[in-house]
Amino acid sequence: MHHDKIDTDALVIGGGIAGLQAALDLADQGFRVLIVEKQPSIGGKMIGLSKVFPTLDCCSCICTPRMAEAEHHPNIAIMTYTEVRHVRREGDRFIADLVKKPRYVDEDKCTGCRLCEYACNTELPHEFEGDLGVRKAIYVPFSNAVPQVALLDLENCILCGRCEKVCPVGAIDFLQQPQETVVRAGTVVVATGYETIRTDFKKEYGQGRLPNVLGALQVERLLAPHGPYGRVLRPSDGKVPDSIAYVQCAGSRDRSAGVSYCSRVCCMYAIKQAMLLCGTLPLADITIYYMDIRAFGKGFEQFYQNAKAMGIEFVKAKVASITEDQQQNPIVRIEVIEEDGRVEQRQHDMAVLSLGLVPGWDPREVGLAAPAPDGFIRCTQPMIAPCRTPDEGVFVAGCAAGPKDIPDSIIEAGAAAMEAAAYLHEHTHVAGKETTTTCMK
Ligand SMILES: Cc1cc2nc3c(=O)[nH]c(=O)nc-3n(C[C@H](O)[C@H](O)[C@H](O)COP(=O)(O)OP(=O)(O)OC[C@H]3O[C@@H](n4cnc5c(N)ncnc54)[C@H](O)[C@@H]3O)c2cc1C
Repeated sequence: MHHDKIDTDALVIGGGIAGLQAALDLADQGFRVLIVEKQPSIGGKMIGLSKVFPTLDCCSCICTPRMAEAEHHPNIAIMTYTEVRHVRREGDRFIADLVKKPRYVDEDKCTGCRLCEYACNTELPHEFEGDLGVRKAIYVPFSNAVPQVALLDLENCILCGRCEKVCPVGAIDFLQQPQETVVRAGTVVVATGYETIRTDFKKEYGQGRLPNVLGALQVERLLAPHGPYGRVLRPSDGKVPDSIAYVQCAGSRDRSAGVSYCSRVCCMYAIKQAMLLCGTLPLADITIYYMDIRAFGKGFEQFYQNAKAMGIEFVKAKVASITEDQQQNPIVRIEVIEEDGRVEQRQHDMAVLSLGLVPGWDPREVGLAAPAPDGFIRCTQPMIAPCRTPDEGVFVAGCAAGPKDIPDSIIEAGAAAMEAAAYLHEHTHVAGKETTTTCMK
């Protein structure tokens, strides 16, 4: 196995919007930053969203420049497709052991031309499209991925050699091995984000087996201009849906799913998606089944009122179960909260679960302090220093500390960067100001 050593001021774990912002804020102050991202591209969940509440800005348009800025910043190095195995303290430095997984494509040679992808005949579900579209066995992760470098899924490759034949720069390398790197850093920022609870979390909601019951992140892709179908169609038969149901608190505030907290963004993203669906499917009926609407941020209440004015139906009800009829139309059984618990059944063409947010990572896996009881990174002084963790010199940003929206993740990333900068000044000899690093992708 190949071994490398990197010396840097700050190690940022996670290349979502929070990690990118923390890295940029540190790098702009002259610190050298290494971003480690486990996926083949930076961008996190944000780069997969369609538009954002409450402004309805195109997500790609506001996230891609951030990704490019980090990629081209002279003080930022990025390692994608890389996992952190262990973090330990040695004197005033942190030592992190990283493993870069093989892409089987030479990153220095690949130009992202996609000729390999066009030549490949093996089709597989596309993870970036929520498994709704297909990708090839060799593929660039998505159109605005950073870096624009192909990746070979060797497990599903039939080794036909077509990609190798068409690659104009000889970048395909079937023999590539994992690469170990040891990083010495003065501080660590954890920005590992969240996952949505799995669609099969509840047997009453079809356990992920009903094809027209989707998770909200899948609907973000259906609504994206460059999404899997290019328009909103239901997966089972490609029908344009006329009636769409949103099931709020799917997994959040639900002790049976192990998630007792409110996930904070589901009300707003459901309202956003409902508005976008009204725009793209003007004849469709959209119903949101909710317990409470939590529209607490700036401009959120007006956004909610606008949705009502657009004709979106809000029904204060708890969804007890979802089944399907013979045409695979979801049948939603509800208990109407406002009308003495009256039970009703309604048929829709498609149902969307507003899935709760759960932690993306357990810090104990790499030797850092145990998380809080909800599984997110523990903050030692949540009221006055919300970015500090039990590990001195390790700071947290974004959804790694708990569910939050993009503006709050960005604000917290700025705060984490300031705490990390102050820590570096106080505890280590900062060498970053006069040096630059190379981007390792
Ligand atoms: C359906 C849906 C719609 C949404 N719509 C909106 C919206 O319209 N407006 C809004 O403001 N917010 C919205 N949000 C919330 C938004 O997605 C989050 O606020 C934002 O993505 C948080 O960014 P983050 O960087 O903290 O986390 P993430 O985006 O989750 O990024 C974390 C990154 O860390 C990486 N990572 C994780 N573990 C490791 C590890 N061990 N090593 C290396 N890398 C690791 C992950 O691969 C990922 O790239 C929505 C959320 C959902 C679920």
